[in-house]
Amino acid sequence: MRISLGVTMRLSNATLSDGSKVDLVIKNSKIESIEKPTQGGDFDMEGLIALPGFVDLHTHLREPGFESSETVLSGSMAAASGGYTAVFAMANTQPVTDNAGTATQVFELGQQAGLVEVRPIGSVTKNLEGKELSAMGSMINSKAGVKIFSDDGHCVSDASLMKTAMEYLKPLGGVVAQHAQEPTLTIGSQVNDGEVAKITGLKGWPASAEESIILRDALLSEQTGCQLHVCHVTTKLGVELIRWAKQRGFPISAEVTPHHLMFTELMASHYNTSYKVNPPLRTQADTEALVEGLLDGTIDVIGTDHAPHAADLKDQDWTQAAFGMTGLEQGYQVAHKVLIKSGLSDWKRLVEVMSSKAATIAGLGNHGNLEVGSEANIAIVDPNQKSVVKHNRYSKSNNNPYIGQEFDSAVAHTLFRGKFSYQDSEVVV
Ligand SMILES: [Zn+2]
Ligand SMILES: [Zn+2]
Repeated sequence: MRISLGVTMRLSNATLSDGSKVDLVIKNSKIESIEKPTQGGDFDMEGLIALPGFVDLHTHLREPGFESSETVLSGSMAAASGGYTAVFAMANTQPVTDNAGTATQVFELGQQAGLVEVRPIGSVTKNLEGKELSAMGSMINSKAGVKIFSDDGHCVSDASLMKTAMEYLKPLGGVVAQHAQEPTLTIGSQVNDGEVAKITGLKGWPASAEESIILRDALLSEQTGCQLHVCHVTTKLGVELIRWAKQRGFPISAEVTPHHLMFTELMASHYNTSYKVNPPLRTQADTEALVEGLLDGTIDVIGTDHAPHAADLKDQDWTQAAFGMTGLEQGYQVAHKVLIKSGLSDWKRLVEVMSSKAATIAGLGNHGNLEVGSEANIAIVDPNQKSVVKHNRYSKSNNNPYIGQEFDSAVAHTLFRGKFSYQDSEVVV
C-alpha cells in the first residue's frame, strides 16, 4: 500500500528546471504552494531536480492479450520508475482497442494499478485491418475519453481512408498518430536499406517508405485541418519534410524515440535481435538530423515506443524475431544524455520534449506543468547519479537495447497525484 503522509507534504530544497531552489508543498494531490527553501521538510531534495512528470505518447502495454510480455501493472511500474506520470497505450492488443469496451478496460486497469495515468489510444481501423474505420466516436465518448488514434505497427496506407478518418476526427478534436510506412516498399524488410543490409544480406528498409507517407499525411492534415502526429520519425528527409510542413502552418507534431536518437543501424549488424525494431535503426546522418530536429522544435516529443516482448519472441533467428525494444526505464536517461550531458540544450527543453509538449498534444491539462494549483505529477531526478544498465527492473520483458550502457543521471523519485509512485529508486506498490 502506498502510505499517505497526511494532508500536507513538504519537499524541501528541490531545484526547478530554471535553476531556482524551492520547497514544494503538496496538499490533497495538488501543489499547494511553492515557497522559499527551508530545512527540515518531510523530504529533503537537496541536489535533486524536480520536473513535471514525464508523458509518453507511445507505449505498448500488451494487455489485454499478450500478458506474458507486459501487463498494464508491470508497464505502469516500469513507467513510474522512469519518471513517467502518464502513458498512452497503443491499440495493438488482443482484442484490439477499436471499441469503447476495450478502451475502458485498459483505462480501468490503469486506474487499478494507480501508478501513472494510463490513457488508451484507439485504433483508426477495425482490428487494425486498414479497411473500415473503428468505433472512434464511441471511444471518444467513453469513460476512457480517447483522444489519439493510431494503427501503430500498421500504417493506415489507404490515402482515402486516412483522409476520411481525419475529416471525422477534426470536429471532435481527435489526433491521428501515424506509423509512417508505405507497406508495398517494405515487404520482407528487416534492417535499414544501407550499410547493414549489405553486411548482413538482410532485406533493406528504404527511407522513402517512411518519407512518402509523412509527406502524404502532412498534405492531408493541411487539407482536413486534423492534427497529425508522426510517430517515431527516423530519417533526415523525414525531419526536413516535417520542418517544411510546420513552416507552412500545417497541424502536425512529431515524435522521436530514445533508441533512434542513440543508436545507428550498425548496432543491428551482429544479429542481436534486441536491435531489431520497426522502423529500423538508421544512419549516423539520420541520427544527427533527429537530434537537430529535437533541438530546433521540428520534433516535439520523445516517445519511447516501449515495445516489450517475452524472451521466446526475441530468442529467434533475426528474420523470425519480433520487432521492438523497451524504453520506459531509460527514456529519461537518453534524453539527459542527448540534451543535457552533450551540452546542446537545457532542462527547459528537456521538460518540453519529455512532458509539456506531449501533454498539450494529448490535451492532458493535469500533466506537463509544475505550478501552484497543478496536480502534483512530478519526476525528481538526480543529475549526478551514474549507473550502468543491467536489465529491466520492472517491465516483464527484457528486450532492452541499453544493457551495458552507462548513463550519468537517473530518476530518484516520481510522484503521481501527490503520492510517491517511485521513491528512493523503488516503485511504491
Ligand atoms: Zn510504430
Ligand atoms: Zn509502437
